[in-house]
Amino acid sequence: MAEKSLFAQFKERSQGRRGPRCTMGLAIEAMNEKDREDTLAALAEPGILGTAISRVLKAHGFDVGADTVNRHRRRVCSCES
Ligand SMILES: [Zn+2]
Repeated sequence: MAEKSLFAQFKERSQGRRGPRCTMGLAIEAMNEKDREDTLAALAEPGILGTAISRVLKAHGFDVGADTVNRHRRRVCSCES
């Protein structure tokens, strides 16, 4: 694959559709609607720790580390948003 220009990469990142998602993003995508709502609400709630979210997700079969939860939360992960 030919290397893309930086400009193309910046643009692609901005559009954000094709980047690989982090495991947190993948877990959110994979879960049912109710769980997704709960998880998004938990991510938006500063009082709920990333470690707590990680533990609950792991208990439900989503192998998401606390660091990944926190990165996703701060939007510095590979997901689009
Ligand atoms: Zn993410």
